[in-house]
Amino acid sequence: MNSFEIAVLGGDGIGPEVMQAGVAVLEAVDARHKLGLRFSPHQAGAMAYRDTGEDLSEPVFARCRDADAILLGAMGWPGIRRADGTELAPQITLRVRLGLFGGVRPIRAIPGVPLPLSDPRAAKMDFVILRESTEGLFFSKDRGLITHDMAEETLRLTRPTSLALARMAFELAGERATRLGRSGRVTLVDKANVFRAFAWLRDVFAEVAAEHPGIKHDAHYVDAMALDLIRRPWDFDVLPTENMFGDILSDLAAGLIGGMGFAPSADLGADHAVFQPSHGTAPDIAGQGLANPTAMILSGAMMLEWLALRGGGEALREAAAEIRAAVDAAFAAGLRTPDIGGASGTAEVTRRVLAALGG
Ligand code: ATP
Repeated sequence: MNSFEIAVLGGDGIGPEVMQAGVAVLEAVDARHKLGLRFSPHQAGAMAYRDTGEDLSEPVFARCRDADAILLGAMGWPGIRRADGTELAPQITLRVRLGLFGGVRPIRAIPGVPLPLSDPRAAKMDFVILRESTEGLFFSKDRGLITHDMAEETLRLTRPTSLALARMAFELAGERATRLGRSGRVTLVDKANVFRAFAWLRDVFAEVAAEHPGIKHDAHYVDAMALDLIRRPWDFDVLPTENMFGDILSDLAAGLIGGMGFAPSADLGADHAVFQPSHGTAPDIAGQGLANPTAMILSGAMMLEWLALRGGGEALREAAAEIRAAVDAAFAAGLRTPDIGGASGTAEVTRRVLAALGG
């Protein structure tokens, strides 16, 4: 029988609140399908730093590294910062130390959730932003050259990571094409008209595109993409992009499907993966039971799919599909969270999704 060790980092603010919902839903499908999930909670984040002086201790890091997958709520808190004033972001430390270069952010309209775009095609929106998560402008984190007279941060792209990102993009497009019954398309989002680094990146993608003749491939400037994600987001499929561009565009894209509470994500590397909602710790609503746990619940489904892709078995894929269907059914039946003008808080969403699961 399978057994998967899942490291659970609730983190700060609404992180532990949405995590409780996410784990409850995973436990329900685990009980039904006998998936063998074992959850091990660990302390990390801003509150851990405040209490212990470490935001991600070496023993906790080791447990995460040795786990089969990592679930993360959200981390960081206003006012709790390092001595140099920088924010505590162990989620970024995990990305860098575990080589989690592929930030997969699916943007899918959930039936019944009000959308800001009135065009009926918006209900068919289903694309993925693939944010490179270890290099780009974020490579410069803690390395910038700051003097009284200037501040300089430098973007870096490397060939191994860019090739791996391109391969992940084409593989993802291939899987989606099979699952959605349509042809796949990879659109690199860059700024190749201004920076030679992005012209270089286009060449790397062209190399990998040649190995995937069945998948369409093109490129789009990031500023034009910001416009087109509002004008015609239903036209896109897989959008690989540089770290900073992906950071910004994924928040914009979350806005298209009802907000941060609906945007799941996965940070994938060759051997490790972290699954977490795209949102932060939301200090403005923390501790009030108002957080929308949908993004966390859907991130759990992404974890099951990733374990399935790594040979964990078909039941994991079925369980992931059941979670997604239960979320869709709950919202289609009228569930409305406070972030979209409703009154159903974290606990009620959990109850309704569990009910839709038949648990
Ligand atoms: P970070 O820098 O960590 O991304 P942030 O403060 O910029 O943090 P969030 O914490 O994601 O961003 O919050 C942005 C806004 O979205 C806040 O008003 C917050 O209340 C809201 N928000 C974020 N996540 C949720 C959620 N799950 N449910 C409801 N509202 C949310």
